[in-house]
Amino acid sequence: HHVHLSTGSAIIAGLTFFLVNNSLIAVVLALQAERGVLMQLWGDVRWQTLTAVPSTALAPAVAATAVGSPWLLLCLLAPLVTVVHSSRLASRREFEALHDALTGLGNRAMLVGALDRTLADPRPARHAILMVDLDHFKDVNDTLGHHIGDALLIVAAGVLSDVAPPNSIVARLGGDEFALLIRDVGDREAAHVATALVQGLRQPRIVEGTELRARGSVGIAYFPDDGLTPSDVLRRADVALYKAKEERDGYVAYEPSHDSSALGQLTLVNELTALLDDPALARQQLALVYQPLLRAGDREMSGVECLVRWDHPRLGRLLPADFLPAAEHAGLTGQLGRLILELAAAQHQRWAAEGIDVCLSVNVFVTQLSDAALPETVGAVLGRYGMRTGSLVLEVTEDALISDPERSSDILRRIRATGVRISIDDYGAGYSSLAYLKNLDVDELKIDRQFVMNVGADATDRIIVQSTIDLGHQLGLRVVAEGVEDEETAALLGEMSCDLLQGYQLGAPVPAEAIALRVTGAAAALAENRRALHVVRETVG
Ligand code: C2E
Ligand code: CA
Ligand code: CA
Repeated sequence: HHVHLSTGSAIIAGLTFFLVNNSLIAVVLALQAERGVLMQLWGDVRWQTLTAVPSTALAPAVAATAVGSPWLLLCLLAPLVTVVHSSRLASRREFEALHDALTGLGNRAMLVGALDRTLADPRPARHAILMVDLDHFKDVNDTLGHHIGDALLIVAAGVLSDVAPPNSIVARLGGDEFALLIRDVGDREAAHVATALVQGLRQPRIVEGTELRARGSVGIAYFPDDGLTPSDVLRRADVALYKAKEERDGYVAYEPSHDSSALGQLTLVNELTALLDDPALARQQLALVYQPLLRAGDREMSGVECLVRWDHPRLGRLLPADFLPAAEHAGLTGQLGRLILELAAAQHQRWAAEGIDVCLSVNVFVTQLSDAALPETVGAVLGRYGMRTGSLVLEVTEDALISDPERSSDILRRIRATGVRISIDDYGAGYSSLAYLKNLDVDELKIDRQFVMNVGADATDRIIVQSTIDLGHQLGLRVVAEGVEDEETAALLGEMSCDLLQGYQLGAPVPAEAIALRVTGAAAALAENRRALHVVRETVG
């Protein structure tokens, strides 16, 4: 009778402890996660039961043993420890199976599980999936090392968690791809979150002594609007993400019209990857065209800008706008940029062999400017093709300088020290800042064509162009106007003392042979003129 009473009390005491303990913890956790207490309790109880029931079940045995032979209690310790240990292990395994080890966020399996449960809920509700992808991540990894890449991923994970509304799930799907499931999403809420996310990523941060600014693109798809199954909604968010990548920086919500173009981009990425892995094929399909840069005064050709084309076997000749976004998305621009420089330098050598000496302007991708080895790469290519450093101009856009000012200006300084000239391309189109002109040594400003096109008709554009020319000259820079589409504009720019002109009217981008012809043709014409002059002189006496 005495033992019976002890058993009953032990069970009641155990249950009471179990319930009180778990309820209190559930309340705290539920408040923190802003979910229902009962839901939290239910989730916990399943795990807790695994340890609590076996150990509580042992209580009568403990009581009985304690009354009979207390020293036998020691024998009960072993099974207790085993139960606690194995249930801890099981719950850790479950955690690991559903979480990403680097960032601690949920993983793909966890997102898919949450999405399954959310979409299966019969109550009518609207949910949003945001797919997030960091721009140029592969290049960061390749050029700055994996530890910086990892640090950047952790930063991104932090930003995602910060902007995620209470009722959402944040997951890292792999690589630099993240996703956010916002349940019961309010009107415009997803757009606000996406904006906050893109801006949050852009905040500069010091990572291991390096200032880093992440950039991300976001694609949004809604349930049930854009798809009824988890895989449909995920795929459409991915399609929207591609569109966002294409439009650079920002977010895009899915629209059915995106489907075909995104599919095309996906195929292009695969084809371009294969192309760059096969140098012979790349040389065959990548074509460079050259556009003359003329001196405003005498319209003589002072140099050429090299522009890339892709002779695609199925789609024909593709312009940069058709495939460079895909190349950027896939992190292929480092490889592509090196190849273009190499091909252009090889062409310069062929021209030199024909006695043609032109300066060569080559565009540089944003990512190349965070590659600390760029100065050596450029030097090596010039050496290989016997090209003087003074014959090369590298065109850099403002965005490249802003996204990581310190690293890029250091790299440019080292390149410039070798005699290669640096030009700021599309000047005025980006997040212009006078500050970088002060800190950066450059040689040339190329005024963006949006200001040049209407310089004849638009008084404001004229003021902008004139003051940019003056600013450039005051700083000792050469000023180029691009997008000169008619003679009137060309003449006006000459009067405004712009140094160089570039545009369809004065010379469209053409294959290398046409440049050679233009130069030798001009020389021939000049020789012809001289001979004519000679004849005139002779006849006149
Ligand atoms: P960008 O560097 O500003 O190149 C000038 C673009 O303006 C070229 O377009 C050229 O064809 C076009 N253009 C030339 N004259 C005129 C004109 O009178 N009016 C107008 N409206 N446009 C004119 P393209 O070849 O399609 O290149 C577009 C952009 O793609 C380039 O802009 C550059 O940012 C990028 N890109 C092209 N080739 C390369 C390359 O080899 N490497 C890198 N990194 N970027 C490249
Ligand atoms: Ca350019
Ligand atoms: Ca330009």
